[in-house]
Amino acid sequence: MRRVIILAIGNELLIGETLDTNTNWLCRLLNGLGAGIERAVLLPDLIEPISKEIQAACDSSIDLLITTGGLGPTDDDLTLTAVAQAIGRPLDRNETAYSWLEERYSELAASGFVASAEMNQARIKMAILPTGALPIKNPVGAAPAIEVVYKNTTIICLPGVPGELKGIVTGPLQPRLAELFGAGSYQERELWVGCGDESILAPILREIIAAHPSVYIKSKANKFGPELRFKIKLHARGDSLTISKALDEAEATLRSSLAAHCIKVLENR
Ligand code: ATP
Ligand code: MG
Repeated sequence: MRRVIILAIGNELLIGETLDTNTNWLCRLLNGLGAGIERAVLLPDLIEPISKEIQAACDSSIDLLITTGGLGPTDDDLTLTAVAQAIGRPLDRNETAYSWLEERYSELAASGFVASAEMNQARIKMAILPTGALPIKNPVGAAPAIEVVYKNTTIICLPGVPGELKGIVTGPLQPRLAELFGAGSYQERELWVGCGDESILAPILREIIAAHPSVYIKSKANKFGPELRFKIKLHARGDSLTISKALDEAEATLRSSLAAHCIKVLENR
């Protein structure tokens, strides 16, 4: 299973002005590809804390580190400076990224969205990448995303604007994600049980969890009061055949154990 860390970068996230929806969106998408997301962190627009997190992730051989935010033209967008520092590479103008930006600002100027197509300092800044980084075209906005490999970790930096991030991930990043995750997949199942007391379910689930370590099993209360019932969810990641089999086995053991304890599985919830 591919190990993933996500860093959501932006002061606006830490002062509570913006809700970090990027992490949630990425978690769902990557989980669906079979990723094991180990950690997700909110960070300010400051070089040191970002760089430290990147170094720690690379030191622990995380397969994929994704950052969101801080790729823009303003001076407070420091993500790429932090990446360069963490991996010990200088920042350099990337000519591919530069030509994409030139093209984008010409289009924007031609449609009257910006006054001029001139590549000023702030626009050029978005083409200054850690040396050796691969720019990834932004089909929605201006700032390109980047990919750079360091030690055993693939680092992908995405813009913070949710529409841009989604446009890149569902567009030009798709072939790379397919390469990284291969046949990885994720499946889940749920069982509803008519049981009013989670403390009765707990020891049953403990046994199933111990017997099926590759399946993540969790009970959740649904309705409270006399009609209390629980949803038991089984989640598994890996290649699709293996996880179907693991889920079949865990579900079968769970059903027979529930039956042995006279707990009904509700077919119509
Ligand atoms: P870019 O890298 O594209 O410049 P940025 O995050 O540096 O993005 P900002 O101006 O800070 O640029 O943010 C752009 C918009 O994206 C803002 O409205 C901000 O609130 C939103 N945004 C940034 N990060 C997130 C996030 N993690 N989840 C949801 N929205 C976000
Ligand atoms: Mg920002």
